[in-house]
Amino acid sequence: MSYKVDEIIKEHLSNWRQYPEIVKGFEFLHADAENTLKQQMELVLVEAPTFEEEERAQVFAQMLKEAGLDNVIIDEDGNTFGILKGKGEGPTILLEAHLDTVFPKGTVKEIVHKDGRIYCPGINDDTRGLANVLAILRAIKHAQIETTGDIIFLGTVEEEGIGGFGGMKKFLAKHQEVDGSISIDGAGLNGIVYEATGIRTIAVTFKGIGGHAMGAFGHVANPLHAAARAVAKIADIEVPADPRTTYAVSNFHAGNDTGVHAIVKDATIKINFRSNGQKELEELEAKIIAAIEEACQEETERWGKDTITYELIDYVDNRAGTQDKNAPIVQAAFHLIESLGFEPRLAQGGSTNASIPVTLGIPGVTLGRGGSEGGVHTVNEWFDPTDAHKGLQVIYLLLLHLAGVENKITSILII
Ligand SMILES: [Zn+2]
Repeated sequence: MSYKVDEIIKEHLSNWRQYPEIVKGFEFLHADAENTLKQQMELVLVEAPTFEEEERAQVFAQMLKEAGLDNVIIDEDGNTFGILKGKGEGPTILLEAHLDTVFPKGTVKEIVHKDGRIYCPGINDDTRGLANVLAILRAIKHAQIETTGDIIFLGTVEEEGIGGFGGMKKFLAKHQEVDGSISIDGAGLNGIVYEATGIRTIAVTFKGIGGHAMGAFGHVANPLHAAARAVAKIADIEVPADPRTTYAVSNFHAGNDTGVHAIVKDATIKINFRSNGQKELEELEAKIIAAIEEACQEETERWGKDTITYELIDYVDNRAGTQDKNAPIVQAAFHLIESLGFEPRLAQGGSTNASIPVTLGIPGVTLGRGGSEGGVHTVNEWFDPTDAHKGLQVIYLLLLHLAGVENKITSILII
């Protein structure tokens, strides 16, 4: 992809090396690598499945305090944050990673070191992100950098799965002072997520009367058959390739082993569908709902006795959103990665916490955790910390160029 950063932004981003305290913070992130890793390993042992983040929130809050924030709050949603006050009138910037992991409690047993890798479920996603938030705070404190705007250091709840970025949503609804946002999530340091893929997850339960497989046959319609009809119709829906639009029936539940000779009373399917375009997402939703309604009607008419109805539960409802790929925050992230010697990569679409600011029109990106990693969302998850501080340095510099540094660097959001 050809991508050009404006000269004015390039020039603005080239000045930081002349300020000793900014260089000091930059170098601190390298020197602090062992501490960062130590906190990452402490945090990973505190399990935090989505909706059960309390214990990890407590530990993270304590770490924020130790890193130098005296106003740390765990709010009513569980979001855990502290604010580093700016010295001037600059934009308020959010730096966040998510507290929750995809693993149920009891999954994490121990940390295994093997061949330079650290194995543990959740070691990267997003435990490393949390450790990075803490390290960047320490770097700014250590170098006594005075930012112009406030910086909020945040661990969010409910990012994964049916959490659906709920923590980030709730936080931004309550903190309308946020002018820019960096989320830390994802592998390596090359990727820049600046768009928001729209995501819907719904559960649909088809309902009927039920009865004996032979005795009730012909007298009642079969909700499981209705669900199957719906799935077959959904399977045939055509979607555009661009903007990328996808769907999957991801769950099908009906009946049980003692009821193998029964017509069930209800059958539930779950459907996850996504699009990088909001219009396409809404069109797809209309088609899915039409498929469900037709399926109910067909199964009802097949027998002409009782009526199959359905009930819909919303799990995730995140709008799609686009941010100009030439927005200053995107250009700055791109240039910083490139100027530190790496190859930046703009992601197409994205399902990260940055989706929330982006759909609200707030400049926002998600940047990677640094280092290298694999097996994310599996029990074989591993992290290799080699040169991981370089990812931190990118985020640190972007953060300072968003918040501004008093009398030294003007925020790129207002140049
Ligand atoms: Zn994550």
